[in-house]
Amino acid sequence: MQVEQTFVMVKPDGVKRGLIGPIITRFEQKGFELAAISLRTIDRNLAETHYGELKSKPFFGELVDYLTSGPVCAMIWQGPHAVENARAIIGKTNPVEAGPGTIRGDFGMDISGNIVHGSDSDASAAREIGLFFDRDHVAQPSAQLFGGTAVAR
Ligand code: UDP
Repeated sequence: MQVEQTFVMVKPDGVKRGLIGPIITRFEQKGFELAAISLRTIDRNLAETHYGELKSKPFFGELVDYLTSGPVCAMIWQGPHAVENARAIIGKTNPVEAGPGTIRGDFGMDISGNIVHGSDSDASAAREIGLFFDRDHVAQPSAQLFGGTAVAR
Protein backbone atom coordinates (compact mmCIF):
# COMPACT_ATOMS: atom_id res chain seq x y z
CA MET A 1 0.00 0.00 0.00
CA GLN A 2 1.32 3.44 -0.90
CA VAL A 3 1.22 6.00 1.89
CA GLU A 4 0.87 9.63 0.87
CA GLN A 5 1.00 12.91 2.74
CA THR A 6 -1.25 15.94 2.54
CA PHE A 7 -1.12 19.44 3.97
CA VAL A 8 -4.00 20.56 6.19
CA MET A 9 -4.34 23.90 7.92
CA VAL A 10 -6.88 24.99 10.51
CA LYS A 11 -7.50 28.60 9.49
CA PRO A 12 -7.63 31.47 12.04
CA ASP A 13 -11.42 31.21 12.55
CA GLY A 14 -11.08 27.50 13.32
CA VAL A 15 -8.27 28.15 15.81
CA LYS A 16 -10.18 31.02 17.51
CA ARG A 17 -13.28 28.87 17.87
CA GLY A 18 -11.38 26.04 19.58
CA LEU A 19 -11.77 23.61 16.68
CA ILE A 20 -8.20 22.28 16.45
CA GLY A 21 -9.10 19.38 18.74
CA PRO A 22 -12.32 18.33 16.96
CA ILE A 23 -10.57 18.58 13.57
CA ILE A 24 -7.61 16.46 14.73
CA THR A 25 -10.09 13.94 16.13
CA ARG A 26 -11.84 13.63 12.77
CA PHE A 27 -8.57 12.99 10.96
CA GLU A 28 -7.54 10.40 13.55
CA GLN A 29 -10.94 8.72 13.45
CA LYS A 30 -10.78 8.52 9.67
CA GLY A 31 -7.50 6.60 10.00
CA PHE A 32 -4.92 9.27 9.22
CA GLU A 33 -1.60 9.46 11.02
CA LEU A 34 -0.19 12.85 12.07
CA ALA A 35 3.29 13.54 10.65
CA ALA A 36 3.83 17.16 11.74
CA ILE A 37 1.97 20.00 13.47
CA SER A 38 2.77 23.66 14.02
CA LEU A 39 0.77 26.53 15.48
CA ARG A 40 1.97 29.78 13.98
CA THR A 41 0.96 33.20 12.76
CA ILE A 42 1.81 33.57 9.10
CA ASP A 43 2.84 36.77 7.35
CA ARG A 44 1.22 38.19 4.20
CA ASN A 45 4.07 36.96 2.05
CA LEU A 46 3.51 33.31 3.03
CA ALA A 47 -0.29 33.64 2.72
CA GLU A 48 0.08 35.16 -0.77
CA THR A 49 2.52 32.42 -1.84
CA HIS A 50 0.32 29.66 -0.43
CA TYR A 51 -2.70 30.94 -2.38
CA GLY A 52 -0.64 32.18 -5.37
CA GLU A 53 -2.96 30.49 -7.89
CA LEU A 54 -5.82 32.73 -6.72
CA LYS A 55 -3.96 36.03 -7.09
CA SER A 56 -6.27 37.29 -9.85
CA LYS A 57 -9.49 36.54 -7.92
CA PRO A 58 -11.50 39.47 -6.54
CA PHE A 59 -11.49 37.95 -3.05
CA PHE A 60 -7.69 37.51 -2.92
CA GLY A 61 -7.01 40.50 -0.64
CA GLU A 62 -9.72 39.45 1.82
CA LEU A 63 -8.42 35.88 1.73
CA VAL A 64 -4.93 37.06 2.72
CA ASP A 65 -6.44 39.29 5.47
CA TYR A 66 -8.37 36.27 6.75
CA LEU A 67 -5.35 33.94 6.75
CA THR A 68 -3.16 36.44 8.58
CA SER A 69 -5.82 37.47 11.14
CA GLY A 70 -4.54 35.08 13.82
CA PRO A 71 -2.63 31.86 14.35
CA VAL A 72 -3.17 28.91 12.04
CA CYS A 73 -2.53 25.27 12.85
CA ALA A 74 -0.51 23.71 10.01
CA MET A 75 -0.42 19.92 9.86
CA ILE A 76 0.80 17.07 7.70
CA TRP A 77 -1.44 14.02 7.71
CA GLN A 78 -0.47 10.77 6.07
CA GLY A 79 -2.13 7.58 4.88
CA PRO A 80 -3.48 5.94 1.73
CA HIS A 81 -5.04 8.40 -0.75
CA ALA A 82 -4.25 11.17 1.73
CA VAL A 83 -5.24 14.10 -0.52
CA GLU A 84 -8.58 12.62 -1.59
CA ASN A 85 -9.49 11.32 1.87
CA ALA A 86 -8.70 14.68 3.48
CA ARG A 87 -10.78 16.60 0.89
CA ALA A 88 -13.66 14.17 1.51
CA ILE A 89 -13.79 14.80 5.26
CA ILE A 90 -13.18 18.55 4.85
CA GLY A 91 -16.10 19.00 2.43
CA LYS A 92 -16.88 21.48 -0.33
CA THR A 93 -15.27 24.92 -0.36
CA ASN A 94 -18.51 26.71 0.53
CA PRO A 95 -19.89 25.55 3.91
CA VAL A 96 -23.39 26.21 2.54
CA GLU A 97 -22.83 23.36 0.07
CA ALA A 98 -20.62 21.14 2.24
CA GLY A 99 -22.57 18.14 3.43
CA PRO A 100 -23.36 17.36 7.04
CA GLY A 101 -20.66 15.12 8.49
CA THR A 102 -17.91 17.13 6.81
CA ILE A 103 -15.78 19.62 8.75
CA ARG A 104 -16.94 22.64 6.73
CA GLY A 105 -20.52 21.38 6.68
CA ASP A 106 -20.65 20.90 10.43
CA PHE A 107 -18.58 23.87 11.63
CA GLY A 108 -18.82 26.58 8.96
CA MET A 109 -21.52 29.03 7.84
CA ASP A 110 -20.02 31.09 5.01
CA ILE A 111 -17.27 30.81 2.38
CA SER A 112 -15.41 33.72 3.98
CA GLY A 113 -14.80 31.52 7.04
CA ASN A 114 -14.51 27.91 5.98
CA ILE A 115 -12.40 26.73 8.92
CA VAL A 116 -9.84 24.54 7.23
CA HIS A 117 -7.63 24.07 4.18
CA GLY A 118 -6.64 20.79 2.52
CA SER A 119 -4.33 20.37 -0.50
CA ASP A 120 -6.14 19.67 -3.77
CA SER A 121 -3.52 17.43 -5.42
CA ASP A 122 -0.31 15.54 -4.65
CA ALA A 123 1.68 18.32 -6.34
CA SER A 124 -0.03 21.00 -4.20
CA ALA A 125 0.56 18.91 -1.08
CA ALA A 126 4.29 18.67 -1.81
CA ARG A 127 4.50 22.41 -2.54
CA GLU A 128 2.51 23.44 0.57
CA ILE A 129 4.40 21.06 2.89
CA GLY A 130 7.61 22.62 1.59
CA LEU A 131 6.30 26.12 2.32
CA PHE A 132 5.29 25.38 5.92
CA PHE A 133 7.63 22.64 7.16
CA ASP A 134 11.26 21.75 7.33
CA ARG A 135 11.51 18.20 5.91
CA ASP A 136 13.94 17.13 8.65
CA HIS A 137 11.20 17.56 11.27
CA VAL A 138 8.46 15.60 9.52
CA ALA A 139 7.69 12.08 10.75
CA GLN A 140 7.82 9.31 8.21
CA PRO A 141 4.83 7.02 7.67
CA SER A 142 4.61 4.46 10.42
CA ALA A 143 5.08 0.88 9.31
CA GLN A 144 2.85 -0.17 12.22
CA LEU A 145 -0.15 1.81 11.04
CA PHE A 146 0.06 1.37 7.30
CA GLY A 147 2.72 -1.24 6.61
CA GLY A 148 3.50 0.77 3.51
CA THR A 149 6.18 2.63 1.67
CA ALA A 150 6.29 6.41 1.88
CA VAL A 151 6.03 8.43 -1.29
CA ALA A 152 9.30 10.33 -1.57
CA ARG A 153 8.69 14.07 -1.94
N1 UDP B 1 -12.54 31.59 -1.18
C1 UDP B 1 -13.31 32.71 -0.93
N2 UDP B 1 -14.31 33.04 -1.81
C2 UDP B 1 -14.56 32.30 -2.92
C3 UDP B 1 -13.77 31.17 -3.18
C4 UDP B 1 -12.77 30.83 -2.28
O1 UDP B 1 -13.12 33.40 0.07
O2 UDP B 1 -15.48 32.64 -3.69
C5 UDP B 1 -11.46 31.24 -0.24
C6 UDP B 1 -11.85 30.11 0.72
O3 UDP B 1 -11.24 30.38 2.00
C7 UDP B 1 -11.22 28.90 0.06
C8 UDP B 1 -9.93 29.50 -0.48
O4 UDP B 1 -10.32 30.77 -0.97
O5 UDP B 1 -10.99 27.84 0.98
C9 UDP B 1 -9.28 28.71 -1.59
O6 UDP B 1 -10.22 28.50 -2.62
P1 UDP B 1 -10.24 27.14 -3.43
O7 UDP B 1 -11.12 27.34 -4.60
O8 UDP B 1 -8.85 26.68 -3.69
O9 UDP B 1 -11.03 26.13 -2.46
P2 UDP B 1 -10.53 24.99 -1.44
O10 UDP B 1 -9.45 24.21 -2.15
O11 UDP B 1 -10.06 25.66 -0.19
O12 UDP B 1 -11.77 24.16 -1.20
